[in-house]
Amino acid sequence: MEIAPVQGAESSLTYPINMTGRKAIGIDLGTTFCAVSHIDMYGKPQIIPNSESERITPSVILFDGASVIVGTLAKNNSVAEAERIVDFVKREMGKPKEQFHREFNGKIYSAEELSALILRKLKADAEKYLKEPVTDAVITVPAYFNDAERTATITAGQLAGLNVLQIINEPTAAAVAYGLDKLNEDQTVFVFDLGGGTFDVTIMRIQGQGIEMLATNGDHRLGGKDWDDVIVNHVAEEFDRAHGENPLLDLQSYQDLQSRALAAKIQLSSRPRTAIVHNHNGKSVKIELTREEFELKTRHLVEKCKTICEMVLQEAKMNWSDIDKVLLVGGMTRMPMVREMISQLSSVPVVDDVNPDEAVAVGAAIQAILSLLREEEVSGVKTLSENTRQQFSSREGGLIQVTNITSHTLGVVLWDEGHLEEYVFPMIRKMTPMPATAKNSFGTASANMPRVVVRIVEGESTLPAECTPLGLCDVELPAFLPKGSPVELTYEYNGNQVLEVSVNACGNQAKVTIERNTGLAPDEVERATAGLGAIVVA
Ligand code: AMP
Repeated sequence: MEIAPVQGAESSLTYPINMTGRKAIGIDLGTTFCAVSHIDMYGKPQIIPNSESERITPSVILFDGASVIVGTLAKNNSVAEAERIVDFVKREMGKPKEQFHREFNGKIYSAEELSALILRKLKADAEKYLKEPVTDAVITVPAYFNDAERTATITAGQLAGLNVLQIINEPTAAAVAYGLDKLNEDQTVFVFDLGGGTFDVTIMRIQGQGIEMLATNGDHRLGGKDWDDVIVNHVAEEFDRAHGENPLLDLQSYQDLQSRALAAKIQLSSRPRTAIVHNHNGKSVKIELTREEFELKTRHLVEKCKTICEMVLQEAKMNWSDIDKVLLVGGMTRMPMVREMISQLSSVPVVDDVNPDEAVAVGAAIQAILSLLREEEVSGVKTLSENTRQQFSSREGGLIQVTNITSHTLGVVLWDEGHLEEYVFPMIRKMTPMPATAKNSFGTASANMPRVVVRIVEGESTLPAECTPLGLCDVELPAFLPKGSPVELTYEYNGNQVLEVSVNACGNQAKVTIERNTGLAPDEVERATAGLGAIVVA
């Protein structure tokens, strides 16, 4: 252990570094709020408060001159500094810079760079609280995030100086947080996760030492903000009616109304009525809103949630009678109308002994320790405390296993002779447990083809243009082959999201490995971090 030179009376020691110098945290990188958790020296998950002593940090960034402020201070300034604020960046993850960027002080920021600024604050606050450097993290994402969105999340973590051990699905993390102490009961859990900006439903099987994801669905543009917007629009309409002016055309007024609407929504969870006052251009309105009116105005949003719940059950070929428990995750599940909808859907017991704001981060922290335990197993070097090891090994001494399922279909583009057009044939369907292997034989489209080019895509559509291209696998063919000569295609998708595609065309073989969710290479991280380097995150 290094001892830093004595500078002053107080800080004479560096951070105590554990045996490996590695400390892992779990991060719930939310659309509206983030939470961070770690496993303490007794092997128990704990939430890490931020430097403002809050258990959750608003995912809001304020560009304040040369420095960047993240969290409540930024959120509180969102009215006065509306043009210098970035929020809801999670909704933009995975978009190339041409499609989404924000410019501050002459620098153009991509979604992952903005997200990295949030992660930097979380990392710095965790280090301050834990009094040791944080090196590794598991970061959570919605289950239906596609490859680009997941990769952007890894990149954001790397840019923030974190070694991203794993990206895991939010409902998986929540079930891990919930299932840890309950693994002696086999059960099927329905995870209902309604957050600030996203909605996610997942059916999981908790059995023996394993947590298996059976089905997932969601809408990544449905969340608390939509409920807030209903209030925003209602107040704006009333304002317009009273004063003949739309207050939403003014960014500051809009931001102000948004935070008032959010506060009103939260009040209506515990009170039957509330009042929203809005001032704009020296004029004002006061709108009374009852819970009943609000529920009527937002009924369509709850209906959307209900439809998605029914869809996921159908996809899993299950009924409510197959579900043992409903697990509520996300701040929006505190709303009475959401709870009522769930209890009307089924009589399955609802579990809310996990804090809906914290469960995901706690699950991520547990998963981070599991990752490090696996690394211990491989390297043979013990790096964790005995307490932690005991806590996380199962009764039989093995590790708790989390089985993920594919969140999108992996397909191949084929030629449809009947309709004279290309279409996508699904090789590994959405929701297949990983690792997954699929083998199929196809025929060459014409005689004497010199080569076959296999186009590998991801997506649910049968139209190639609506799917995301993942790669090509190119193989030469022997001469003079008749039309319809067999081409055998194998897709192997392993638990680490590496897809291997092999082609066997009449004895000629080719193989391509598509590494997914890898983020940036070390030199790319260095270059990209240099761009963010000068920025102080407070
Ligand atoms: P999350 O992204 O899971 O942190 O969820 C945050 C969302 O939950 C935001 O839209 C909050 O406004 C909302 N929320 C938090 N607490 C409550 C509450 N008591 N009633 C209604 N909505 C809430």
